[in-house]
Amino acid sequence: MVRFVLLGTGSSDLYPSPWCGCDFCAFAKEEDDKRNWRNFSCALLYPDVLIDCPPDLPHSALKANVELYKVRHLLITHSHHDHFSTDPLLLRRSVLWAKKTPHKDVLPLPDLQPLIVYGNAKVSEKCKAFLKEVSTKYDLQIEIQKLRPFEPAKLGERTKVHPVKAEHCRDEEALLFVLERDEFSIFYATDTGWLSEETFDYLRQFSLDLVVADATFGLAPATEEHMNLEQVRKLKERMVNEGILKENGKFVATHFSPHWTPKHNLLTKALEEHNIIAGYDGLWLILES
Ligand SMILES: [Zn+2]
Ligand SMILES: [Zn+2]
Ligand SMILES: [Zn+2]
Repeated sequence: MVRFVLLGTGSSDLYPSPWCGCDFCAFAKEEDDKRNWRNFSCALLYPDVLIDCPPDLPHSALKANVELYKVRHLLITHSHHDHFSTDPLLLRRSVLWAKKTPHKDVLPLPDLQPLIVYGNAKVSEKCKAFLKEVSTKYDLQIEIQKLRPFEPAKLGERTKVHPVKAEHCRDEEALLFVLERDEFSIFYATDTGWLSEETFDYLRQFSLDLVVADATFGLAPATEEHMNLEQVRKLKERMVNEGILKENGKFVATHFSPHWTPKHNLLTKALEEHNIIAGYDGLWLILES
């Protein structure tokens, strides 16, 4: 069995935006449904492979009841602030502090487990600068490994990652990830606009069990950097037609901006006739043979 958890499903605005008074942001706040409160987008191939490290990751992890100390591999899509902040990594010092002053009531103390951070050149630089800055005080047990599109890498015995090219920004090479674990494959595809033919060509080697795709602009027009609900529907259709997504594969939308995406129950209605799941924070997706 393979479990994939959506820890956050909001865009860089957060959902609702605390700075915005538009109707959609206001409706989200009025509702009791917790699925209308979205943290920054990130996901976990349970328990050890995390995709993206937004500033609110610690809260998202606690909310979804997952343990970050079990994460050994951190894949970063790109350096935008809602996908890569070094603040959650600094919190790893908490384990070192606990070790420094052990207390008989909380023994035995676990060791800080090593973590490898994978990303493009810009992410690697940002991470390197952070580690250099803290190195006089802490050894956070973090290593950096650079990724390039279409060059797969092994993450332990059971798992392989295939970075593919996103269509997202001009000043860095944003990545999307296909994760293969056991007999299952998962495509995590945010942030991105409509995929290039080069990426579709690469994806044709897979018969995916699960796709999680960028639907930032909801009911508004898509841009070159993000998709909307209409493009997500088209993407699913194309992937099924070309055999990239299994006929009974799961397809989930994520990275919703509050100003253009209706509240969760309406979003679910708009997507269910296309057999697309409206993602929400804390959604566990289970793959079984
Ligand atoms: Zn984003
Ligand atoms: Zn972005
Ligand atoms: Zn708004």
